[in-house]
Amino acid sequence: MRTFSKSHKLDNVCYDIRGPVMDEADRMIAAGEKILKLNIGNPAPFGFDAPPEIIGTMTDNLHNAQGYSTSKGIPQAREAILAYHRGKGVNVASIDDIYTGNGVSELITMVMQGLLDNGDEVLVPAPDYPLWTASVTLAGGTAVHYICDESSEWFPDIKDMESKITEKTKAVVIINPNNPTGAVYPREVLEQIAKLAREHDLIVFSDEIYDRLLMDGVEHTSIASIDPDLFCITFNGISKSHMSAGFRAGWMVLSGKKDNVRGYIEGLNMLSSMRLCSNVQAQYVIPAALKGTGAPDKELLPGGRIYDQRECIYTLLNDIDGISAVKPKAAFYIFPRIDAKKFGITSDEQFVLDLLRTKKILLVAGGGFHWEQPDHFRIVYLPCIDQLKLSMAEMKDFLSTYKQN
Ligand code: PLP
Repeated sequence: MRTFSKSHKLDNVCYDIRGPVMDEADRMIAAGEKILKLNIGNPAPFGFDAPPEIIGTMTDNLHNAQGYSTSKGIPQAREAILAYHRGKGVNVASIDDIYTGNGVSELITMVMQGLLDNGDEVLVPAPDYPLWTASVTLAGGTAVHYICDESSEWFPDIKDMESKITEKTKAVVIINPNNPTGAVYPREVLEQIAKLAREHDLIVFSDEIYDRLLMDGVEHTSIASIDPDLFCITFNGISKSHMSAGFRAGWMVLSGKKDNVRGYIEGLNMLSSMRLCSNVQAQYVIPAALKGTGAPDKELLPGGRIYDQRECIYTLLNDIDGISAVKPKAAFYIFPRIDAKKFGITSDEQFVLDLLRTKKILLVAGGGFHWEQPDHFRIVYLPCIDQLKLSMAEMKDFLSTYKQN
């Protein structure tokens, strides 16, 4: 009988956030066990509801949203996106340079499919949000990872980035604010990246989906605002800022000089048309969301859930012998270091599996974010403080006797 296996295009594509550890968790859940999931950045299951105004706007427009829209999206949504990014100092020429997508995810795969030939290289951060690496690989390219430096608040190591540029490098990806580290890059760092991109003719892809989830008064700067001529594609959406990941509303904005990227844009237009359009009812929500309607601002201040949960997880983690963590400034992730030597850890995936099986706590290993050493993991601190306290007490207990090798 003829058998079917996955295509060779997928041979090296890896997306571990929902990988083998998750399979084990699913098996345990099916067997009736209760797992505390600290692994997925999906606010809804943790009591963060999409704001009623946003849901109201969507349901009010269901009738208008029956048909396909133009492939880039309805003009009202793109006008609002244009105003938002211009307000952040980004040089966007018109709504023609704005594409809505079924979440940022769809657009990340689209920009790589449109750009890369086999063997082309793209600089991607380590740690990264792994869809970036997966999308480069799926498109036939090679993701070359540059290091973000934990000792320097997880900012990109510019020397490392520069040392990895070759004649095959077409683009550099930055994730700012960052998943999984929660870092927000200062202007000086962005200026250095922009300088490298200019000197080496690189396209800049900037994933800014967390730019409205900032804490401690930090400001967010779009790299596209640093140099009006630099060709950048900036990604954003409402999955996180409006706790509405299931609506699938994201967008990308092309900015800067376009003289030498006309062919690429033709490709993007073709790919955008091939998927007809993004989810139309979700597009109707974008103008309200970008005016700030229903934004979770209070949650990010002392007394708000995200802020208080961050304080809690940061303190509790650093209190565990053998664990240390840099304080995140944005989003809802923390990427702690675990002393691999102390615990004999040679496989971070095994560590995460052992914790899952013993304590029923689900994390993602650092390797899932293309972090090479087996000494990090990511926690999503969306669960409430009681659950975070419980999980950290369990982790402390687990580590008090854990030895992998
Ligand atoms: N970019 C980053 C950095 C993310 O963390 C995520 C989701 O976790 C996405 C993009 C995907 O977002 P969307 O829901 O818009 O597809």
